[in-house]
Amino acid sequence: MANIAFIGLGNMGGPMAANLVKAGHKVTAFDLVAASRDQAKADGAGIAESGVASVKDADTVVTMLPAGKHVLSVWSEVVPAMKKGALIIDCSTIDVASAKEAHALAAKHGMASVDAPVSGGTVGAKAATLTFMCGGEDKAFAAAKPVLEKMGKKLVHCGAAGAGQAAKICNNMILAISMIGVGEAFALGEKLGLSHQALFDVASTSSGQCWALTTYCPVPGPVPTSPANNGYKPGFASALMVKDLTLAQDAANSTGAATPLGKHAQEIYKAFDAAGNGGVDFSGIIQHVRALAGK
Ligand code: NAD
Repeated sequence: MANIAFIGLGNMGGPMAANLVKAGHKVTAFDLVAASRDQAKADGAGIAESGVASVKDADTVVTMLPAGKHVLSVWSEVVPAMKKGALIIDCSTIDVASAKEAHALAAKHGMASVDAPVSGGTVGAKAATLTFMCGGEDKAFAAAKPVLEKMGKKLVHCGAAGAGQAAKICNNMILAISMIGVGEAFALGEKLGLSHQALFDVASTSSGQCWALTTYCPVPGPVPTSPANNGYKPGFASALMVKDLTLAQDAANSTGAATPLGKHAQEIYKAFDAAGNGGVDFSGIIQHVRALAGK
């Protein structure tokens, strides 16, 4: 089994590192927050006193951090301290430009690298059922596969450096737009006297069918496991959706792509977030849509 360093033990990284321990790997972990380090220790990981110390003997290094600036700062410290030819994987959701910069830094020091953002949220992180969207050279992806497979159930090699991040922001832009669309349909159905269940039964088996409706239905009842049945407790918090939509808009602006609905979705989620709902599940956007009635 491999020696793995894991840096960033938050809501996602903590359970992901625990799954690598469960798979029999020797995991050496680091986070700035003491409580996260304590949890990783309780999960069976070894704890290092810094990011640099964690990577010394690692064959593979995994980072799971908030944003591009954290990834570049951590990678610029740890990459020079890694064993020659080791592999570094970033699973955070970050901008494509920072991801490419991180790959270039790894290449400069002779390390293989993969950007591998995830879909599946904290539930998927705990259950090891994440989807990984990967970018990097074929050889690096092949080396990352056995490690990622212990934390997820689906891996897609999307292309060269940064392609995983590109796929992630495009996917989440679809999700945000479709969740607002589903919310609008239920809000209109309510005004028309249509029951939630009737609309669900029709749309989930008709051309309106989508993941936001069938797996994550934003009204309580039709899909008992969706956050709507649990006071819109995340799940996937609206603040994180704003983050991903902003990454998508930055990418659209820098490439000149037209994303009118992506832009509008960003504005809608930003307004929801600004009203104090950043910690509410993103499917709670239906409440914001209802509140727009008559305005
Ligand atoms: P989080 O804030 O819970 O965890 C981030 C961790 O990184 C924190 O524990 C923090 O202390 C640590 N950290 C920050 N700087 C550090 C440094 N220099 N050295 C060591 N540790 C450092 O965030 P999260 O929910 O675990 O998300 C992590 C990434 O995954 C984000 O990029 C997020 O967008 C993405 N993501 C999150 C979800 C989700 O549902 N939470 C889903 C998909 C993707």
